[in-house]
Amino acid sequence: MQSINPFSGEIINHYPKYSSSELEQIIRKVDYAFHLWKQTRFDERSIYMKNLQAILLIKKEELADIMVAEMGKVKREAVAEIEKCAHICSFYANNAEEFLKNKPISTEAYESYISYQPIGTVFAVMPWNFPFWQVFRFLAPALMAGNTGVLKHASNVSGCALRIEKLVYEAGFPENVFRTLLIGSEAVKAVIENPLIKAVTLTGSAPAGKSVAATAGSVLKKSVLELGGSDPYLILEDADLEAAARLCVSSRLLDAGQSCIGAKRFIIADQIYDQFRLKFVSLMSQATFGNPLDPQITIGPLARLDLRNQLHLQVTKSRDLGATVLLGGYIPDGESAFYPPTVLEHVTPGMPAYHEEMFGPVGVLFRFKTEEEAIQIANDTVFGLGAGIFTADIEKAKVLAEKGLEAGCVFINDFVKSDPRLPFGGIKESGYGRELSEFGIREFMNIKTILVK
Ligand code: NAP
Repeated sequence: MQSINPFSGEIINHYPKYSSSELEQIIRKVDYAFHLWKQTRFDERSIYMKNLQAILLIKKEELADIMVAEMGKVKREAVAEIEKCAHICSFYANNAEEFLKNKPISTEAYESYISYQPIGTVFAVMPWNFPFWQVFRFLAPALMAGNTGVLKHASNVSGCALRIEKLVYEAGFPENVFRTLLIGSEAVKAVIENPLIKAVTLTGSAPAGKSVAATAGSVLKKSVLELGGSDPYLILEDADLEAAARLCVSSRLLDAGQSCIGAKRFIIADQIYDQFRLKFVSLMSQATFGNPLDPQITIGPLARLDLRNQLHLQVTKSRDLGATVLLGGYIPDGESAFYPPTVLEHVTPGMPAYHEEMFGPVGVLFRFKTEEEAIQIANDTVFGLGAGIFTADIEKAKVLAEKGLEAGCVFINDFVKSDPRLPFGGIKESGYGRELSEFGIREFMNIKTILVK
């Protein structure tokens, strides 16, 4: 496996893959560590987790640079990502015990209650787009719950994967409670099938999710899947158009558009369509792309050249089928994996931009005449991750959010963000299960019923 800087094209490092006997040895060690780790108290785990929080904050510049080099994220977003990882460490350090305390249930028995028990080593298969955050939102609840973890990170961010493993030990955690496995996707099946692995969580694309879920199902192991999204944003007639356009563009351009919960489809009321389009295109056109270390730059390159080329193909195929390109839609000169902020309209069923996730800085505009039509367009997708509504009528928005939009979360007058306090996950082909909050930490627990007659 190799890490290639998507801005300079330079090969940063080659990483030999672990052999199957190396994998077996590591998994055995992590399983052994589980039997000791599960006996530790919450206050002891909290000490290590708070150490990890402190180290992340002290080293945030250095850690951010690894991300910038391996996948092209702009530096200020990379630093913010490390700060968010520190936050989740403190969140679970402070709340895990409360989330997992025994829960009494009233029955006719003398006593009955739920006891949450860790299940063992959980296998995490993770993507490159938030190379630290995606791992920490697995790692922090898993370790606080008394589980142990092994990580297979995306092949282009092995430097991040190894650095995260090292950070865990710098924080003082016992040996082997968390290990990185340098493997390709072809080795994932055998790891899931290993009897010492008790569950698997994958964040990534729907095809990867289907493959992992099929293997997990074949050996009756629990899986949690956080997959892609094509989040719709409804801009109603009474919305604050300035704020809506600004927030929609910010969400669309975060991480150069490579976020599962990025705003991707903008479904705009007929009466304000032209006004919104003008503001949206104007803000998108002001965004700059360039060296991710330059603080003036809005977006860096996409994470890999092949991903950039694939995105351009989705845009050009849609254009050839009748979509209008209002902005961008070309491959910039040079070796970097840049893609310019791009806006499409007149996108109709049958075009890639209508059905597929656009994983880059490409916004698609739709016009609606009735709210039923808006909901129909919003839900006409295999995905169901996040959604947004911009309007002054909060009560109406809450009804649309609760009963209309098919999504794991809906944000009103803001764009969707992950937050350790709130459950996160999707429906339909965006996956199943939840991360973050009390729901996330309970995913890999044995919810054990105890009854005393
Ligand atoms: P990806 O190709 O599915 O890769 C994700 C991870 O799965 C990588 O570690 C990859 O390993 C591995 N993988 C790929 N194919 C696999 C297979 N058939 N069996 C087992 N493992 C496999 O996705 P990506 O391009 O890295 O990430 C972008 C996708 O992730 C987007 O669809 C995005 O929306 C989604 N995502 C979702 C969330 C969420 O929380 N819902 C968050 C972030 C990203 P290799 O790198 O070795 O191929």
